[in-house]
Amino acid sequence: MAGTRKPVVEVRRSQRRRRTVSAYRDGERVVVLIPDQFSRAEESEWVDRMLARLAAREGRFARSDAELLARASRLIGLYLREHGSAAEPASVRWVTNQNGRWGSCTPADRTIRISHRIQDMPDWVIDYVLLHELAHLIVPSHNAQFWALVARYPRAERARGYLEGVAATAGLP
Ligand SMILES: [Zn+2]
Repeated sequence: MAGTRKPVVEVRRSQRRRRTVSAYRDGERVVVLIPDQFSRAEESEWVDRMLARLAAREGRFARSDAELLARASRLIGLYLREHGSAAEPASVRWVTNQNGRWGSCTPADRTIRISHRIQDMPDWVIDYVLLHELAHLIVPSHNAQFWALVARYPRAERARGYLEGVAATAGLP
């Protein structure tokens, strides 16, 4: 999914192409089709451009509200299954107005908001933040019962460390 790993790029030159450039993913590789007449400089410029375009296209899909809800359902099934509908949110949304928080939950109306600032973080960190907020639907406060639910997620400790590191670097609380 979206991430910072640089994919393996295969450039194919075509004599039939004049100015058009296209790119598509083929397994782990990205194939970029360029006109044969392109210089090396044009080639590298266009490869960068097409990779950015591809990442943006995939990112929009991968980090949509719909994907967030699907992710929540999967986490409930894996870690909060016995709580059934008590763990189901009414809505889960990406938001840009979370000040200094990665996510928040309002148990009264069962809504969850996740900060866009974690959108580019690894999947396992996003899962942690989301599971944390889902657990608040069951236990609103940060008590022992709450942390016991969160601890079911195998990478909870690591994810907290990751987020603390990011917050410290960014000077966030
Ligand atoms: Zn919390």
